[in-house]
Amino acid sequence: MDTSLKDYVDQAQRVVVFTGAGISTESGIPDFRSPGGLWTQNKPIYFQDFMASETMRIEAWQRKFNMDDAFTNATPNTGHMAIARLVQNGKVTSVITQNIDNLHQDSGIPEDKVIELHGNTTYAKCLNCGTRHELPFIRTAFEETGKPPPCTACGGILKTATISFGQSMPEEEMIRAEAATLACDLFIAIGSSLVVYPAAGFPIIAKQNGARLVILNREETELDEIADLVLNTEAGPTLSSLLPHN
Ligand code: NAD
Repeated sequence: MDTSLKDYVDQAQRVVVFTGAGISTESGIPDFRSPGGLWTQNKPIYFQDFMASETMRIEAWQRKFNMDDAFTNATPNTGHMAIARLVQNGKVTSVITQNIDNLHQDSGIPEDKVIELHGNTTYAKCLNCGTRHELPFIRTAFEETGKPPPCTACGGILKTATISFGQSMPEEEMIRAEAATLACDLFIAIGSSLVVYPAAGFPIIAKQNGARLVILNREETELDEIADLVLNTEAGPTLSSLLPHN
């Protein structure tokens, strides 16, 4: 099964894996754009609106806590584990992810090999002083007062450590992602509709730089026409087929 993907991986020296929400649906976390996905239930809250309005901040935290069971109970699936094996054996140099669920780290990939373009929703940060805050503290205060608490260090606004629409991309992660992309000879995009920029620019950069591009996604994507190989299959079983026991 999928011998051509296996051939591509076998022939490559430095593989970059790029993931989107689709890698985590098999862990029980809905994606954005599949039918019934989060996008159809709630339009995203833009960063400017979050900053401008306490009502929007309350709405954002309420949504976060409503979703939290899916995130906190989720564990890495066979797709995450297959990628972790490919990192472990040195084939995959970096995992660039749009995901905010921490499941690549939970699968055993070292922190320095995971590049989070859109941050992480498993903790919060003060937007003023950058102090990290854990979610149970915020949830308890929210449930008591109906509002998110201020930062205990400086009184600033707390937000999950994610990058919202309208918020600047994280500079260091963007630099690391570009360097990894330019250094790879195979770029595999997995479980992403490839419509969110600048993240979706990385497969294009890889291809323009001479790397082979594989897109593994249940549905068609915007970038299928520039890919060397497109697989419209499920991420977990397809990635598992790359491992030696198959
Ligand atoms: P998306 O929802 O736009 O696209 C996901 C794609 O994955 C879809 O095209 C879908 O067909 C495909 N897919 C779903 N399950 C699959 C499976 N098992 N195997 C193969 N393909 C599968 O997601 P995106 O491109 O990552 O963009 C959405 C944004 O929302 C990102 O910025 C991401 O950070 C955020 N988000 C993250 C999570 C998470 O952290 N798990 C969940 C939802 C949204």
